[in-house]
Amino acid sequence: MELYLSDLTFHLTEECNLDCRYCFQKKRSRSLGFSSIRKALDFFQDAFHPGAFIGFYGGEPLLEFETICRTVAYIRNHSTLRRRKLRYSLSTNGSLLTDEILRFLNANKFRVNLSHDGTAQGTTRPSRKNSLILENLDRMIKLKNIELETNSVFVPATAGELFQSARFLLERGVNDCHLNYSIIHPWDSVSLKRLREQVEELRKFLLWHYRRHYAIPIGNFQERPLQAMFWCAAGQERLALAADGRLWGCRFFADYFASSSSHSEIGKYGFGDMREFVKNPREDHSAVLNNYRELIQGRFHSEQKPCRRCSRLLYCSACPATAAFCTGTIGKIPAWICDIKKIWFYEVRKFWAAARSS
Ligand code: SF4
Ligand code: SF4
Repeated sequence: MELYLSDLTFHLTEECNLDCRYCFQKKRSRSLGFSSIRKALDFFQDAFHPGAFIGFYGGEPLLEFETICRTVAYIRNHSTLRRRKLRYSLSTNGSLLTDEILRFLNANKFRVNLSHDGTAQGTTRPSRKNSLILENLDRMIKLKNIELETNSVFVPATAGELFQSARFLLERGVNDCHLNYSIIHPWDSVSLKRLREQVEELRKFLLWHYRRHYAIPIGNFQERPLQAMFWCAAGQERLALAADGRLWGCRFFADYFASSSSHSEIGKYGFGDMREFVKNPREDHSAVLNNYRELIQGRFHSEQKPCRRCSRLLYCSACPATAAFCTGTIGKIPAWICDIKKIWFYEVRKFWAAARSS
């Protein structure tokens, strides 16, 4: 099985200490033991390309901080893995960060993806820890070796807060903000209209910011370098080991199939248990890999038409796994996701037309 990995994610635990409104994960007391992680690292040691990411994901992965420390130490002392110059990433809600953890993340140059919804945080992520989370955000901004990015998720009810939330995070000092939408709340025409107004307002603000600083701190506005058809990296450059020890092409496949365990497509995208996989890596897995290779935008379809007939085909990148949370089929995109893509597509295009002429 030929693999060239840019990302191996460990889904450390399904437990979480918060209860976000748009969370699509099932919370169970399952966690990934270090022995499974070690098995995966040993097995894939020759597949990593230099600088590939080892990701820690949950639930809330900091509930398993000891496992993170053991993994980093194991890689540091491993003769092959050490030479790969692997990097680390952590997706966290920020509520369990302590001085010790921050020192560790800084010392090991982590990319930290902090879930924070800006001014909508109190609505979508209600918690008594929200002021502590903001303090932790401020502390991470000051730590030079932590590469901080934020991920904000908006639901239809908070669509009207997108602009001020993004501005709030930028003014706090975040310079890599990503704005996303909840995949479990279908968006109606009223909330889509509100979203359009917000993205338009953000575009104008960002243009002003760009002319002053020549920086684009909102990931959604950073241009894709080439107009090439989007393909899903799952199973090709990416793998994820779920908390129950099963191997998938990407963490979102693990999440999706964990939420629907009798799904007919499980065999199509699941590599099975890691312990069995290492014993027989070739058996059946080329068929699964081929299924992942089929996941290119031109093969997806929306509720109305195949993507290959869409005028935005070469600009669109729809995640086939997260879309399935709404439609029940990998690669089938709900109409409201197409509408959201369209909003961003036109605003990003307007932004670049104005930025280039300035
Ligand atoms: S906008 Fe919708 S139909 Fe068009 S390429 Fe994207 S997902 Fe497919
Ligand atoms: S498109 Fe979605 S499923 Fe594919 S690699 Fe990206 S996040 Fe994972």
